[in-house]
Amino acid sequence: MQQESEVTKDIIVIGAGVIGLSTAIKIQEKGGYRVTIVAETFPTDPKTIRYTSHWAGAHHVSGAYGSKRQREMDSETFDIMWKDSEHGGPVEGCFLRHKNTQYRSDGVDPSEWLDHMPGFRSVSNDELVPGATHGWTFTTLTLYPPVYLNWLLGRFLGNGGKIVRAQLQHINQAIHGGISGLPQEPDAVVACVGLGARFLGGIEDKEVYPVRGQTVVLKAPWVRYGRTLTYADGSHFYLMPRATGDVLVGGIRVAKDWFPVPREQDRDYLLAGGLAMCPELAPPHILAERMPTVDDLRPLIVDEGCGLRPGRKSGIRLATEWPEGSKIPVVYNYGHSGMGFQSSWGSASVALNFLEEALAGEKPGKAKEYEIWPADYTGRRDHVC
Ligand SMILES: Cc1cc2nc3c(=O)[nH]c(=O)nc-3n(C[C@H](O)[C@H](O)[C@H](O)COP(=O)(O)OP(=O)(O)OC[C@H]3O[C@@H](n4cnc5c(N)ncnc54)[C@H](O)[C@@H]3O)c2cc1C
Repeated sequence: MQQESEVTKDIIVIGAGVIGLSTAIKIQEKGGYRVTIVAETFPTDPKTIRYTSHWAGAHHVSGAYGSKRQREMDSETFDIMWKDSEHGGPVEGCFLRHKNTQYRSDGVDPSEWLDHMPGFRSVSNDELVPGATHGWTFTTLTLYPPVYLNWLLGRFLGNGGKIVRAQLQHINQAIHGGISGLPQEPDAVVACVGLGARFLGGIEDKEVYPVRGQTVVLKAPWVRYGRTLTYADGSHFYLMPRATGDVLVGGIRVAKDWFPVPREQDRDYLLAGGLAMCPELAPPHILAERMPTVDDLRPLIVDEGCGLRPGRKSGIRLATEWPEGSKIPVVYNYGHSGMGFQSSWGSASVALNFLEEALAGEKPGKAKEYEIWPADYTGRRDHVC
């Protein structure tokens, strides 16, 4: 909590997506910091392709593969969200706890990074859906992003945080002042700019690229479980139930595709893939009579959208740097691809540690990177929801 009398340091967080908000709150609630968020887009704005967080599912199904650090961040986040989703919890209504089953036929066994989930077990052959050779089931949660993000924003403001709307052209505008409403001499800057890291002057990280996702939302309150299905060729579908009674169906993940609005053929691809994995998406009275078709799902559509996941070649960037000629450290926390919600609190903790180390007297000029993926790792690290 930001108590004026205890505040010693001014921190600017750039970005108000799930990563910027979670990181800002983590810093604030550590105590001793006055935090200002500067961003072009906030959760209260209409949905836009320039703000990924509004478009997420969002479920917590870790895809940490061979990265111990990614696993730790995911599981720290899960523990916090599990508590927040408790009956009577602060934001209970935006979460839905449910059973999720991960079906696969690509030879990957996810036990190593999922077996800590409540009720984790592998499923028997007669529980498999067509196209799957193996399956694992466990309890997890989905959250409804617009409500969750606005709750984070409210918590940040309630703690005494300040927000400023601006589109920065260069990170020096945060470091050296010049933007009205921002502290003109901050002690540190934390950059949580998602895909914006590719373009923001002074960062211009060309490892960052979009991974386009498209989703369709069905009013299907009779489906209260989640499923994912990964085929041998790598194609992947998922469905996520929400507390609202809706079910989000997805499965598009195309790297370097900037197309900003839903495509009709993608919608049909998702409906077909969703139905193949879960015929129960169709209204129960239709399923009782015959095998449903994609046309039976169309009247259930209540929304659709697409978002650009902030992909990054070597995984999330968690790092500290003192830009040339500056004594002010910049901590980076971006590039969460399809895992931003499920690793949000864990990566915010790492960013806070980096910030505190830097402010405690690390030598300016000494850059520090947190390697999420072992340098010699050759397995998959492309999981995106
Ligand atoms: C279809 C889809 C499904 C997904 N499902 C899941 C899921 O189930 N679980 C999960 O964990 N994740 C999921 N994700 C991924 C998740 O949405 C992202 O990882 C997450 O939203 C990234 O958050 P962010 O805060 O880094 O970026 P963003 O939400 O894009 O926020 C970036 C912020 O930085 C600001 N900014 C950027 N550049 C500048 C600048 N120059 N000046 C000022 N402000 C700037 C923006 O205005 C914004 O406020 C999904 C994504 C998609 C598209």
